[in-house]
Amino acid sequence: QPPEQASSVSDYLEQVLATCGEDTSGHISEQLPAPGDTDPAQHALALVTADGTEYAAGDDQHYFTIQSISKPFDYAMALDDAGLERVHECVGTEPSGEAFNELSLEGGTGRPLNAMINAGALVAHQLVSPDKADPQGNGEPTTSHHPEVQARTARIVQGLSVFAGRDLNVDRELAEEEYAKDYRNLAIANMLKTHDILEVEPEEAVRGYTDQCCVLVTVRDLARMAATLANNGIHPETGERVVSEGAARRTLSVMATCGMYDGSGRWLARIGIPAKSGVSGGIIGVLPGQVGLASFAPRLDDEGNSVQGVEMFAQLCADLGLHLMASE
Ligand code: GLU
Repeated sequence: QPPEQASSVSDYLEQVLATCGEDTSGHISEQLPAPGDTDPAQHALALVTADGTEYAAGDDQHYFTIQSISKPFDYAMALDDAGLERVHECVGTEPSGEAFNELSLEGGTGRPLNAMINAGALVAHQLVSPDKADPQGNGEPTTSHHPEVQARTARIVQGLSVFAGRDLNVDRELAEEEYAKDYRNLAIANMLKTHDILEVEPEEAVRGYTDQCCVLVTVRDLARMAATLANNGIHPETGERVVSEGAARRTLSVMATCGMYDGSGRWLARIGIPAKSGVSGGIIGVLPGQVGLASFAPRLDDEGNSVQGVEMFAQLCADLGLHLMASE
């Protein structure tokens, strides 16, 4: 349990940020649409308890694109919209052992190994129901002109917003830039199409997925989203049920084994909680029933995880005793 006093928790987070901020190694991802626009010195940390108390430190008002951190939330929505069985037919739950943007599909079925790699995330995106979009709600118009893709993406942006407890938006200009050089995801989508896993055209699938990656968030949004997963799918501040308990649990399980790119095994051994990182420098971590955590610092290590973020989590998890495999 974190200390009771808000000021002392925030001071503690500031301290963690200051210690970890000394490490300026790593690089800004070239995969970002405009890597030159990222200020490498920005960093932030936030913590939201499962009963809704929120703490943050550093540049907690700074907006960045959610990127791969959207994947677990999208997967949870797909599980509720399409049902566990259908989702499992289309995307597995095994670590891939390959880079997140590898053109890897399971032999025989053609199914992506999990929903945390791009192939699986493209499929999970398709399994979210466009019919659940609120036409009056946020999330429109997206970069696609295809009505079904627009509605599905709107539903995903709205779902991410409910996870965050406020309206989130796609940075459409960045999404267009990212899409324009997204040859690799297009290649993956084309492969999926040959296995009949995608209903829409590959270009449209990638547009929808890219819009999903370009939703703008702050570290506080991410910590609230993580806390919603920690709280069995119920937002700890709004009290709204965002996803079912089963979807939250399945999502956390896949995050635990596949959430940190090729460093997932080492992360679980060292830090010990389900997590997900993204190329823009964010990381979320979830201690089920207890807390959602989020960090932001844009320089990445060779595996694509934020250098400072990993150290922030290592320190927090050690100080607060969060490792899931520890008996006390
Ligand atoms: N939009 C990026 C991609 O799909 C996200 C990658 C990431 O954050 O890992 O390539």
